[in-house]
Amino acid sequence: MKLLQEAIEKRGEIINDSILKVDSFLNHQIDCALMEQIGIEFANYFKDKHFTKIVTIESSGIAPAVFAGLKMNLPVIFLKKSEPSTMKDPVYTEAFSFTKNRKYTLCMERSCLNPEDSVLFIDDFLANGQAFISAEDLVHQCNAKINGIGIVIEKSFQKGRQLIEEKGYDIYSLARIQEMKDNKIVWAK
Ligand code: 5GP
Repeated sequence: MKLLQEAIEKRGEIINDSILKVDSFLNHQIDCALMEQIGIEFANYFKDKHFTKIVTIESSGIAPAVFAGLKMNLPVIFLKKSEPSTMKDPVYTEAFSFTKNRKYTLCMERSCLNPEDSVLFIDDFLANGQAFISAEDLVHQCNAKINGIGIVIEKSFQKGRQLIEEKGYDIYSLARIQEMKDNKIVWAK
């Protein structure tokens, strides 16, 4: 997605060879016009597939997921990193944070998904695929299924895509980074 690639090149910051900071439009401040285009792009790509819900992870997956939800007319569930006292019957899983380099617990209300649900999973970044694996676990604990994966920024030099493809999922990443070196981004073909 050209608009997104331009935003990453102009407004992103390469922290090191494996971490990109995009706080100016996605991870802290949100560029709503860009998010709207992201929502349209996901809706176009997945237009022939059947989904009943979008699932993402708080907090940075919420903006792209909500704009996709608006364009696809789907509700959005965000998985929570801490359990609110109001949750009645949660399902839990352990997750590993790539950027924080530590484990954390993800949870959701079991009644959010049921066996008839066909889920589109959306997230801001794909690195080694650990966030996806944890989300997949929660979706499966509710006996629902994942029918597609939408990623805003994929770092193709890490293991996530291969792991997801080996599981047979349809994955669509809007910007695919092959390499980050000498303060420059090389895009995957
Ligand atoms: P994974 O679980 O695929 O290893 O990592 C994906 C998660 O880690 C995303 O949900 C995202 O929040 C975070 N993440 C991974 N790589 C980056 C990065 O380069 N920059 C930022 N800002 N977040 C990242």
